[in-house]
Amino acid sequence: MNHPKSQLVVIWILFCSLLTLSCISEQERMTGKFTQFLKEYEGKVIPLSRETSLASFEASITGNDSLYKKSEELQFELSKIFTNKQDFALLKEIKESNTISDPILKRQLEIIYLGYLGKQLDEQKIKKIIEMQTDVEKRYNVFRAVLDGKPYTDNQIEEILQSSTDSKVLEKAWKASKEVGKNVAEDVLKLVHLRNDAARDLGFANFHTMQLQLSEQDPQEIEKLFDELDNLTRQAFAEVKEEVDRVLSKKYGIKPDGMQPWHYQNRFFQEAPKIYSVNLDQFYKDKDLVEITQRYFAGIGLPIDDLIAKSDLFEKEGKYQHAFCTDIDREGDVRVVCNVKPNYQWMNTMLHEYGHAVYSKYNDRTIPYTLRDAAHTFTTEAIAMLFGAMASNPYWLRDMLGVPPEQLEKIAQDCFKSLRLETLVFSRWAQVMYRFEKSMYANPEQDLNNLWWDLVEKYQMIKRPAGRNEPDWAAKIHVALYPAYYHNYLMGNILASQFYYTISQQVLQQENVTEQSFTDHPEVGKFLDEKIFKPGARYGWNEMIEKATGEKLTAKYYARQYVE
Ligand SMILES: [Zn+2]
Repeated sequence: MNHPKSQLVVIWILFCSLLTLSCISEQERMTGKFTQFLKEYEGKVIPLSRETSLASFEASITGNDSLYKKSEELQFELSKIFTNKQDFALLKEIKESNTISDPILKRQLEIIYLGYLGKQLDEQKIKKIIEMQTDVEKRYNVFRAVLDGKPYTDNQIEEILQSSTDSKVLEKAWKASKEVGKNVAEDVLKLVHLRNDAARDLGFANFHTMQLQLSEQDPQEIEKLFDELDNLTRQAFAEVKEEVDRVLSKKYGIKPDGMQPWHYQNRFFQEAPKIYSVNLDQFYKDKDLVEITQRYFAGIGLPIDDLIAKSDLFEKEGKYQHAFCTDIDREGDVRVVCNVKPNYQWMNTMLHEYGHAVYSKYNDRTIPYTLRDAAHTFTTEAIAMLFGAMASNPYWLRDMLGVPPEQLEKIAQDCFKSLRLETLVFSRWAQVMYRFEKSMYANPEQDLNNLWWDLVEKYQMIKRPAGRNEPDWAAKIHVALYPAYYHNYLMGNILASQFYYTISQQVLQQENVTEQSFTDHPEVGKFLDEKIFKPGARYGWNEMIEKATGEKLTAKYYARQYVE
């Protein structure tokens, strides 16, 4: 039977409107489900996160055991929320329905979904991994390098490497420090297998790609970025490395081509040897670092008096010895822990930590809790690094401390040269770490001792000691305990340069970028607040960077600042 055309059209229209109707209701249904989920989720997560952060802050400033215990328990409670199987199934259903169209809801869904996904690993496997990690961590902690029958701490080994000029002593100290690798290598490798196994259960190729994808980093894009950086830094690094070899070999009374891994004043050559004569401590020895930090941030329009009042900044018995910043409630209660001494290192640290702090303080309280966070851990690291670096910026010393022009000229060159050396050395070292981890998780059965030294030779341009076949990769604690994270440090550096150029050129309209200290320029704070702090995690990190700087993350400015 033949339908007249008009009848077909009517049927078609009816069919379409039914389809649209059912789509709308599906969309409404899912939106309703997710909104309900959010309400319950926030009801649990917001108060528990606050309590957890407070407990961990209190524990670290007092060193009190029962507070540490409480903080650990709360942390466990908090992470348990994300292991819930029913909740995850619901989130998965909503996500796969692809019906959430409101951008704010959609973004929350993405973030919360990934938070749950990372915690869906098999419970037994997780338990095994945590047990092994704890055991391995203890072995790193108690390890002491033994020299002539005497135990040495890491700090003492570093001191020998920095001060001795006797190649025999240096070699002994360096080799003794690597013994920890032999102690743990076998178990680290077991951990790698366990982590891979757990990641494959969730459908990831291996643990490394899982970690990247869980933090919204496309493994191929990261690889591209590291290749780009390798190309940009190779020549410049080769040149400074030659200078390092020339200066240090002279100091040790050897030929430049006789330089060995123990001749670089650091166990891993991750920090720059001191070959330039710049003493930054002299500028800080009689200064009030807290007051300077306060004045500087007020000057750029981001006052921190309220944060200083809640922070714990000086040494105390039993207190945690390093520094950190914690956002207690995403409602403006942001605190810093430091152990301030009047020297360069602590000036850098104060500016760094309060960089993190302003990122948190100036979040947008009108957007939902989940989005009141940094776009990525490396984006807040970038802001922290941008400010931390001011402590060795001669123009900042001039503007904030009144260092006179004649002194400025003398130190400017050396300051710049040491910063450049530091950056290039770290950049090449981070290449080794990133590529080693990536390759190890892709194929843990390969000859890892050899892989490590192949990478050290290629990226750090240090020759392996003749005939060395030891698990030197396992001597680096991050490989064992903070897996697949190291690349973020370098990405933070790259982004700090990109922000520095954006602010200097687009906000301050200055061409001589490296001479900018931002001192008393409230428009800098305004820019950071509007373009970086307020958006929070509303956009993916690369979208945020593009909106703020006009370009996606690029190594171009990093190269311009340190290479060209
Ligand atoms: Zn930091």
